[in-house]
Amino acid sequence: AVPPVDDPFASLNPEQRAAVEHDIGTPASRPLLVVAGAGSGKTSTLAHRVARLILEGADPQRILLLTFSRRAANEMGQRAGNVLQRIMGGRTEGAASLPWAGTFHGIGARLLREFSGRIGLDESFTIHDRGDSEDLMGLVRHEIGLTQTAKRFPLKGTCLSIYSRVVNAREPLDLVLQGSFPWCCEWEPQLKRLFGAYVDAKQEQNVLDYDDLLLFWAEMASDPELGPEIGGLFDHVLVDEYQDTNRLQAAIITGMKPDGAGVMVVGDDAQSIYSFRGATVRNILDFPGQFSQPVRTITLDRNYRSTQPILDASNAVIAAALERHAKTLWTDKAASSLPQLVLIPDEAEQARWVCKRVLEHREAGIKLTAQAVLFRAASHSATLELELMRRNIPFVKFGGLKFLEASHIKDVLAALRFAQNPNGRMAGFRVLQLIPGIGPATATRLLDAVAEAPEAGDAVEAFAAPNKSQGDWQAFVTLYRRLRAPGLRWPADIELVRDWYLPHLERLHDDAGVRAADVAQLAALAGGHGTRESFLAEITLDPPEATSDRAGPPLLDEDYLVLSTIHSSKGQEWTSVHVLNAVDGCIPSDMSTGSAEDIEEERRLLYVAMTRAREHLHLVVPNRFFIKQQSQMGDRHVYAARTRFVTPAMLKHFEECVWITAEMAKSKTPMPESVRMLVRERARNAWK
Ligand code: ATP
Ligand code: MG
Repeated sequence: AVPPVDDPFASLNPEQRAAVEHDIGTPASRPLLVVAGAGSGKTSTLAHRVARLILEGADPQRILLLTFSRRAANEMGQRAGNVLQRIMGGRTEGAASLPWAGTFHGIGARLLREFSGRIGLDESFTIHDRGDSEDLMGLVRHEIGLTQTAKRFPLKGTCLSIYSRVVNAREPLDLVLQGSFPWCCEWEPQLKRLFGAYVDAKQEQNVLDYDDLLLFWAEMASDPELGPEIGGLFDHVLVDEYQDTNRLQAAIITGMKPDGAGVMVVGDDAQSIYSFRGATVRNILDFPGQFSQPVRTITLDRNYRSTQPILDASNAVIAAALERHAKTLWTDKAASSLPQLVLIPDEAEQARWVCKRVLEHREAGIKLTAQAVLFRAASHSATLELELMRRNIPFVKFGGLKFLEASHIKDVLAALRFAQNPNGRMAGFRVLQLIPGIGPATATRLLDAVAEAPEAGDAVEAFAAPNKSQGDWQAFVTLYRRLRAPGLRWPADIELVRDWYLPHLERLHDDAGVRAADVAQLAALAGGHGTRESFLAEITLDPPEATSDRAGPPLLDEDYLVLSTIHSSKGQEWTSVHVLNAVDGCIPSDMSTGSAEDIEEERRLLYVAMTRAREHLHLVVPNRFFIKQQSQMGDRHVYAARTRFVTPAMLKHFEECVWITAEMAKSKTPMPESVRMLVRERARNAWK
């Protein structure tokens, strides 16, 4: 019997269909831009187009699909696969196999490995994560004497941010300093020297940082010989979330495809939230003029995600932006309930209220996985996490980089990286000092010997380690030799490292058991990769985002609440969304109360958060909240008012609720200021 076949393209609206069908059947499609608001089906249109192209005979091996995270890439493959399956009636796999779907950085790493021989790059290069890059910057800064001579010289993290901005925004140093780091302008000559030395150090050690992955790719793409060759690998280049790409990423696209053939990008200028990393919304605005042939632009304005009241509130917030985003979304999802603006005394109450509401939603049939709690910074959920644990509500948190930051994970990765590339000093320094009896001085001596030796491996084995560490040293040399022996033993290698590392873990940490479980999780992740290089690259570029309240990977079939930073919530949707700390000082954040542009970015951030909700949206406004300060003032509680992005005129889009517990009523706590303000506003509004 022939399985029932339905037409997944039938549900597309005319604009979406136009994008999906654009130049289908022609040898090379003209460049296409889809600009559209949140929830209008950009990502799903992209997935349908991928499926449509494959149906038309496109080779999936020659489709480059660039997304914002590895997770988003997998989801896209899944969505495209579903479409194909519906048409072919189960004759295909669940997910479309798209070998070139990933993030810009991930794909860049692969291309560089493949083309390394052509651009004078040693194939065994390792990739520095942000922490390693900062440490290397700090080391170089020290080595060229900037720490001693200049006490007020910018911190290593700031130096790296400046460097990174120069590379990603393709702007000269002086402009970057004036524009984004004005307090560092006086150090321009020293910074120049520092960055030169930093680049030298990376090259000597055969390491690349995140920025190099894009920079070298862009350079290959603009090379007259290599550019066409790399562009020629792909018939189609599709990019999601284009509003959050930077100049370098745009240059990669135009370099690979100067005529724009097969290029399709989608994005929403109202959702651009990564300018602090050099992303620029100009990429979308300038896109039509980038290619040797004209670009077709399609806009979508029907929202399929949220109810009308949620859209009304979100539209109001973005309509007040200084820069006009000329889109007003509409939907036919009517609903009687308005988004809630919840006024609460403090963060402890906020946590309790959220738990209560989450459980009520679950009672009403909304699974925990269909609910999310979003916040500005990873640290903002601490109080809530405690409360969730107390009540045994399972949750998974996205957005912090906790997993990679753990010292035991860094140790294991350092051992693997050192074996792959013994010239990488950051990894070497770390792993060597795990060996008892080896301190910074000995480690430095060994690394110097490695750097000078013609064969790095020989230098390690020949090294005369201090006497007292002989047994431990021999154990390390044995490990090192086995890891470097030719032949593919991945993922067995990580077990070797684990066996070697566990005794050190026992010796170094009281909570070795918990840490060992993390190491086991790392080893489990390793199983999903074919080679050590691909594992190391991926874990560095796109580390497991989620940390949960228990050790081990999240169980995907279990019901859990999602906690996420707003930045990491991009592109996703939930039936119910809570936004924590919708107060001035958090959104907009304290740090950005500076320039008008920074404030506007915070407005877009709130817009992104609000537009994640399908049916229930709650903005929680604690009257007091705790902030961690980097300045001398230290951590403190501050009083706060509702975020400035919800103006009095917008209150009509919300249901205001005041949360006063029985104890508070009893103790006659004075009414919080934000509540009083609200009462006053209401009294005034009654006469309008
Ligand atoms: P964002 O800007 O947040 O990334 P988006 O524009 O990428 O949003 P999608 O995530 O693709 O939007 O779609 C939002 C929701 O609307 C999804 O649940 C999707 O399945 C649904 N949707 C999109 N198009 C249609 C359609 N034509 N008919 C029914 N549902 C649709
Ligand atoms: Mg999307």
